[in-house]
Amino acid sequence: MSAQKSKQLVIKPEWCKGCGICISFCPKNVLALNEKDKIEIKNIEDCTKCGLCELRCPDYAIYLKEDK
Ligand code: SF4
Ligand code: SF4
Repeated sequence: MSAQKSKQLVIKPEWCKGCGICISFCPKNVLALNEKDKIEIKNIEDCTKCGLCELRCPDYAIYLKEDK
């Protein structure tokens, strides 16, 4: 398993403005907006921890964290 896999995808729904950029850039279709237009992880099994969502989110509402 790669070192990437030890990272954890974290979301801060309270910082999310529902722009959908991260959803568009995620190559694995992991993310979705919920009924309140806040980001939600719908499919963590497919996440490759590529970091594109973190890179593209203008509001720091989604990021990868080192797993302890
Ligand atoms: S890290 Fe990559 S695969 Fe995982 S949710 Fe973000 S953009 Fe999608
Ligand atoms: S890019 Fe950021 S602000 Fe936009 S929907 Fe995704 S988490 Fe929310």
